[in-house]
Amino acid sequence: MALITIVVPCYNEEQALPLFYQEITRVAQEMAPVDFEFLFVDDGSKDNTLPVLRSLAEADKRVRFLSFSRNFGKEAGMLAGLQHAKGDFVALMDADLQDPPSLLPELYHAVTQEGYDCAATRRTTRQGEPPIRSFFARQFYRLINRISDADIVDGARDYRLMRRSVVNAILSLGEYNRFSKGIFGWVGFKTKWVPYENVERVAGETKWSFWKLFRYSLEGIVGFSTVPLAMASVLGVVLCLAAAVAILVIVVKTLLFGDPVGGWPSMMCAILFLGGVQLLSIGILGQYLAKTYLETKKRPVYLVRETEEGVL
Ligand code: UDP
Ligand code: MG
Repeated sequence: MALITIVVPCYNEEQALPLFYQEITRVAQEMAPVDFEFLFVDDGSKDNTLPVLRSLAEADKRVRFLSFSRNFGKEAGMLAGLQHAKGDFVALMDADLQDPPSLLPELYHAVTQEGYDCAATRRTTRQGEPPIRSFFARQFYRLINRISDADIVDGARDYRLMRRSVVNAILSLGEYNRFSKGIFGWVGFKTKWVPYENVERVAGETKWSFWKLFRYSLEGIVGFSTVPLAMASVLGVVLCLAAAVAILVIVVKTLLFGDPVGGWPSMMCAILFLGGVQLLSIGILGQYLAKTYLETKKRPVYLVRETEEGVL
């Protein structure tokens, strides 16, 4: 019988975990005789997430867990889960029940009966989210789809069920700076999109502040597009042309009308403007350089301290 691994990144989810476990086991029972493996990744939680996982693993042989040595972020958690999953199919799911386990039978049907390689989910609404955040999220998706060739769907969740071949494809991308939404789009494969209405988390609170999301979006842009670099060069060319015209005008004007002094304001404007453009371009360059620097170090994306088999 097929085995489905459910990968669940958890960071301070002591309250949500029991509810999640209850719901996912209910769905698993519904889907019998399909086998399940629940792989929880404790991302360096500071609350009782780890003890909760230990007792779940003790009581249920299907439960496995990895516990990180510190908080490495959700991306690292998902990577660790995918790397350790044994299933023929792997699903990524949040612990807070914002990714309804009840959709799982539908996702499974899509990959086993309808000829899809993966079934992914998309929120059709963003209710319960601050309007400003929704606005910036929308702008981000418009921008990144325009400047990168990875197809990133607006409202796409990380919640998805994949065939083994897709998981292997994702794991073959060995980058350190991981932006999963981009990676999923980049690897392609036949994907069925299942829309659903936004659900608010059952317990605990979101770990994403506005700034964290903003930095994450920059990560996505730098990771999946080189358009900002090209923009810096285009800006340079345009400004060179403008400068040539301006020089011509200034020379001719001075020859015809004299006027040796004056022109201080326009000079200051030019200096300030050019200084700004140069710093901006260097900054863009720096972003890419920083990413390259981190990639070349080849540091591990995460470190495991403990699993269901004990402390390493
Ligand atoms: N998460 C994680 N590491 C982190 C932050 C979050 O593993 O550093 C997990 C978290 O436990 C949850 C999922 O990622 O299962 C999504 O997090 P959250 O619900 O806070 O994000 P939101 O749904 O608000 O986007
Ligand atoms: Mg959530």
